[in-house]
Amino acid sequence: MTPTSALPPQVVEQIVTRAGRADFDRWADQVTRCGHCAHPVLLRGRVEHHTATGQQVTYSTDGEPDRVLLIRCGNRRAAVCPSCSYEYAGDMWQLLYAGAAGGRKGVPESIRSHLLVFATLTAPGFGPVHTTRTDRTGPARCRPTQGKPQLCPHKRPTWCTTIHADDDPRLGQPLCPDCYDYPAHVAFNWHAPELWRRFTITLRRTLARQTGLTAAEFARRCRLSFVKVAEFQRRGVVHFHTLIRLDGPGDDYQPPQISIDATALIHAIQQTAAQVRLTVTMPDEPELVLRFGTQLDTQTVNGGPAGELTPEHAARYIAKYATKSAEDFGLGPRRITPETLPLLNVSQHIDRLIHTAWELGEHPTYEGLRRWVHMLGFRGHFASKSRHFSTTLGAIRRERRTYRQRQAAEHARELLADEQDTTLVVARWEFAGVGYLTSGDAALALSAAARAREQRQAARDAA
Ligand SMILES: [Zn+2]
Ligand SMILES: [Zn+2]
Ligand SMILES: [Zn+2]
Repeated sequence: MTPTSALPPQVVEQIVTRAGRADFDRWADQVTRCGHCAHPVLLRGRVEHHTATGQQVTYSTDGEPDRVLLIRCGNRRAAVCPSCSYEYAGDMWQLLYAGAAGGRKGVPESIRSHLLVFATLTAPGFGPVHTTRTDRTGPARCRPTQGKPQLCPHKRPTWCTTIHADDDPRLGQPLCPDCYDYPAHVAFNWHAPELWRRFTITLRRTLARQTGLTAAEFARRCRLSFVKVAEFQRRGVVHFHTLIRLDGPGDDYQPPQISIDATALIHAIQQTAAQVRLTVTMPDEPELVLRFGTQLDTQTVNGGPAGELTPEHAARYIAKYATKSAEDFGLGPRRITPETLPLLNVSQHIDRLIHTAWELGEHPTYEGLRRWVHMLGFRGHFASKSRHFSTTLGAIRRERRTYRQRQAAEHARELLADEQDTTLVVARWEFAGVGYLTSGDAALALSAAARAREQRQAARDAA
């Protein structure tokens, strides 16, 4: 918990006032029930029961602290709401783990016999940036000189002999911003979803060729199931962490009817990633050919000689990225407008990316880009999956909601034990705001959230 001595006096006073109120326990209970959400939605209203004998109000926020009910915001971004994003990551993990390990959420345990590969598709280089490297001896210099040291056309060094610390603000920044290809970088983020789509199409064709089948015959015997999560690298470009699995056709998670081993699948993924191209138009420039970077990380999860990555680890690794966004660059979740454009507090590199994206958005073929400038041009979903990979986030949420509703219903039934069967329940709610009423309330909720997360993480680790 934040030491109270570090809080401004009026916040301490608000905390003391809240804690001294007669309904404090009920307030704390509400904060727990909304999962310690950082920006809860405030509702005001009542639940009425209409029976043959008349109408009865069985619940009203009039009896609640501040006459409101707190409902969680449900935001997936850790920078916006740590608690809701933690729940989102947990749901995401469930979905991924079900698809990788089976035996839960409607996915059979036999799924472990299907080939499953973890692959990270990176972006290509748009100019040298400061980076961390390791060699045989450990942490290595950023960009050592090769031969005679050379200056770039802008008279800047093309080398960097620093061993950067992990929190060095120079990481991801170009050695020379004037040499860096900003338009191509933004174009990559903008077109990345289409590049991924082409990757999946080409991978099917590559696998068909490898197994000596026509595309149509391959489709009758094998289906590609996948999940992918986009992550922003330090330089502000997206790359994709993916799980790719081979299934049979149909809805019941049958094994594929083709003969292929893990080595061949990895080879097909590598070959496809190296081969996929997308030619795009650029204003006042020749056409640009986009492709994935040459750095490609692949590991077998299931069906390999020995799975290099366990389903648990693969699921955890991908779920971790699902709560990240562009906030690390000092960008908020909101769209950037001409009014907010000059007010951004970001690094020089991000500033140039934003201005490049803004200018590119003026061109007819980049129509709509301006709405995605706060995402550095990336307009895709941060997490997506093919239909048959596993269950859905919606189903997991419904399951949890049903569980909570069942608990609430049982509670209500106890209260209404002597009611007649023909009861019509009418709920009347109105929106009363967002967020805690005072900074003191928010500080209390935040520290309770941190404690709860520690406890849940300890439980998850022990599981
Ligand atoms: Zn929340
Ligand atoms: Zn450097
Ligand atoms: Zn230069």
